[in-house]
Amino acid sequence: MQELNQIPGNDPIDEVSGHRTLGPTSTPTHPLATAPVGMPAHSVDGFVREFLHELNTNQGVALSRSSANDQYLALASTVRNYLMARWLETSRRTREAKAKTIGYLSAEYLLGRQLGNALLATDLNEIAEKGLALCGLDLVTLRNQEVEPGLGNGGLGRLAACFIDSLATMDVPCIGYGIRYEYGIFRQTFVDGRQVEETDTWLALGSPWEFPHPEASVQVDFGGHTERYVDADGEERTRWVPSWNVLGVPYNYMVPGYLNGRVNTLRLWSAQATKAFDLQIFNAGDYAQAVRAQTFAENISKVLYPEDSTPQGKELRLQQQYFFVACSLRDFIDNELEEGFDLHNLADRITYQLNDTHPVIAVPELMRLLIDVRGFSWDEAWEVTSKCFNYTCHTLLPEALEVWSTELLGRLLPRHLEIVYRINDQFLAEVDKTFPGDGLRTRRMSIISEYPERGVRMAYLATVAAGKVNGVAALHSQLLRDKVLPDFSELWPDKFTNVTNGVTPRRFVKLANPKLSDLITDAIGPGWLTNLERLKELEPYADDPEFKASFAAVKASNKQRLTALLKTRDDIDLPDGHLLDVMVKRLHEYKRQSLKLLHIVSLYEQVLSGKLPASALTPRTVVFGAKAAPGYRMAKDTIHLINKVAMKVNSAPEVEGRLKVAFPANYNVTLAEKLIPAADLSEQISLAGMEASGTGNMKFALNGALTIGTDDGANVEIRQLVGDKHFFLFGMDEPAVTELGAKGYHPGAYYESNPQLRATLDLILSGHFSDGDPHAFDSVVFNLLHQDRFMALADFQSYVDTQALVEQRYADQDAWTRSAILNVARTGYFSSDRSMRDYLQRIWHTSPML
Ligand SMILES: *Cc1c(COP(=O)(O)O)cnc(C)c1O
Repeated sequence: MQELNQIPGNDPIDEVSGHRTLGPTSTPTHPLATAPVGMPAHSVDGFVREFLHELNTNQGVALSRSSANDQYLALASTVRNYLMARWLETSRRTREAKAKTIGYLSAEYLLGRQLGNALLATDLNEIAEKGLALCGLDLVTLRNQEVEPGLGNGGLGRLAACFIDSLATMDVPCIGYGIRYEYGIFRQTFVDGRQVEETDTWLALGSPWEFPHPEASVQVDFGGHTERYVDADGEERTRWVPSWNVLGVPYNYMVPGYLNGRVNTLRLWSAQATKAFDLQIFNAGDYAQAVRAQTFAENISKVLYPEDSTPQGKELRLQQQYFFVACSLRDFIDNELEEGFDLHNLADRITYQLNDTHPVIAVPELMRLLIDVRGFSWDEAWEVTSKCFNYTCHTLLPEALEVWSTELLGRLLPRHLEIVYRINDQFLAEVDKTFPGDGLRTRRMSIISEYPERGVRMAYLATVAAGKVNGVAALHSQLLRDKVLPDFSELWPDKFTNVTNGVTPRRFVKLANPKLSDLITDAIGPGWLTNLERLKELEPYADDPEFKASFAAVKASNKQRLTALLKTRDDIDLPDGHLLDVMVKRLHEYKRQSLKLLHIVSLYEQVLSGKLPASALTPRTVVFGAKAAPGYRMAKDTIHLINKVAMKVNSAPEVEGRLKVAFPANYNVTLAEKLIPAADLSEQISLAGMEASGTGNMKFALNGALTIGTDDGANVEIRQLVGDKHFFLFGMDEPAVTELGAKGYHPGAYYESNPQLRATLDLILSGHFSDGDPHAFDSVVFNLLHQDRFMALADFQSYVDTQALVEQRYADQDAWTRSAILNVARTGYFSSDRSMRDYLQRIWHTSPML
């Protein structure tokens, strides 16, 4: 494949063969050339006409012959048409104003369904409902046709989706850049209680939300070697001679602001073989090999890696990272900036936010573009690059910090590795100037690690290049400074800052909980959805009996909605009138689903052994939702154990009507939108110091669930805001965890000294939940008993004691409802609009367009 790159004209479309040509054929002169298309009439009649037109002309079917998928696609196109003029107008306005754009670089976007959000953003919900009814169709049924694009694993990808929603709603120019995975996060099913993964074929029936632009494809190079040469001015320069390449095809998605006429763009890249790629081989007469080469290229955007917080260091993953970043930088520089723009001023026009370390290869890539392609000197290029990037760290787990082996990086991106080495030399010289002779410190801070193999620490590279480095909750940012990057925060104290995460209230309150939204609007008037701090005005209503009754009725109705859904979706029966106790998030040891499980088994064991009459239990249904990374044994075993406990508990006459465990498969955004509004109790029980922020915790509080949680991540801020009385705190705090770790954590001691904990673990070890097989769950139980890094047993007693307080409070429904209302009223801070305001003021130094 050595010479592939030397074939000129890598255009995806062939001029000679009479196929379509690239770019405009001539300068358009018609007066309407730059004007946006018109918008369909905002009326039921106008909507129906547009819908039937789409059905006939786009789907090619008559209404009477159309399938549900046809109807969904036509409906989506119809709604899309209302956004189209605004999209073009947004793009024109932004270019004309030469406004600074946020380039959000994220390998994941967990978007959730699009149709509901588009209807909300255009205020078309009612019109669509009526219009479809005139056609004999039901809006809710059609909305349920949509397969959500699951282009992310969990919190990190969902955060990106919330942020781009907020920026559009706040009229801030932003392009979200990422990867159009052909297969998103796997679809989870259970077989005999074990997780089985199925490929997510979200594109199988076609996505009406994407706009491919093959004519704007970008070539991305890989491999090869570098050469030195002297240019025409006598300067010594470097040339990268790559050995293979692929094409990045952009797919644009609308990101509509809420009722403000702005539509930003999410641009996801799909990998395709370049013409050169297969022509070369095809000319050699090996057709089959040419087709294989095509597959090889297209593999790059084939599938989302399903590891959340545990990168595997796989070559294809590095290819993905470089692929989307290289496309994205080129896209902005070549297509968004006007001809002749002086790249020395690039930072005036774009600021790139690095969502974790996944896109950090953008730093040497921008250096390479400026130096090798644009002729900048090293210092000039660094001056620009160091002003263009900011970095968000999302973790405290050492295993989540990406390190790429220099062997792999040098093989795939030899020029970038050279640039990284030089950045490191320059950086370590600066360290040595500030701390002369401190060789240990320079070794600690080196971007290049030497053990267990030579590698590039991407978090260090990001920190060196970034203007600002932020953590995602107050506690996390503190620990980031003190424990993860202490040398860096000593060197550059002002570089570090905090921006507490947030969630979009449009999706997670208005769309997910329309009844609560109506109740809020009835009480405090409209406008709160874009100014969520106004929820504070609900505080007085916490003592208003009529409001409390309505609030409780909304919760009851959301539970009924969930009951109906779980019946049809999973054939799960949710009992009436239970405390609904919900733990939904990725399955990870640090999140401690096993601690929740021990609580359930403990309650069950006490009734079974006669220590507690069943009547003493507060009727409770625990709902889990969690996917495990397919290669993460412990996580998958935990899922298996939860399901086996559920089967036993749910069929035990001893606890009938008192305790139930439900584990609907395939937790995703669509399910979250139904589960969270129904929840009474939100489980946020990670070991203190392990959860960077959490955003699930915010969604629950905003929907009136009370939290039982550790002093971790954003739980800290939630508790401060809602008040101790309305939050169930338990467990060790972070200093206590650190102290115990230093002293030595000995889980066996808790087992020996705590009879209830012992009885609980013994019941699992007896084979009670595994058809008599005492070893079925050895991996999970032995881990808890012998080596658990996340100290579940240390927090067990505090946790079950606090659960007893939960039950006491729940017995007083009036007090519970009051606390729930205060949770809603006091958590407006957690709107992602506020997060975006913080980024704009303290990191991006830009403001909304006027
Ligand atoms: C919000 C969200 C998450 C993040 O939840 P955490 O509890 O913060 O880990 C994960 N998955 C989905 C589908 C979400 O909506």
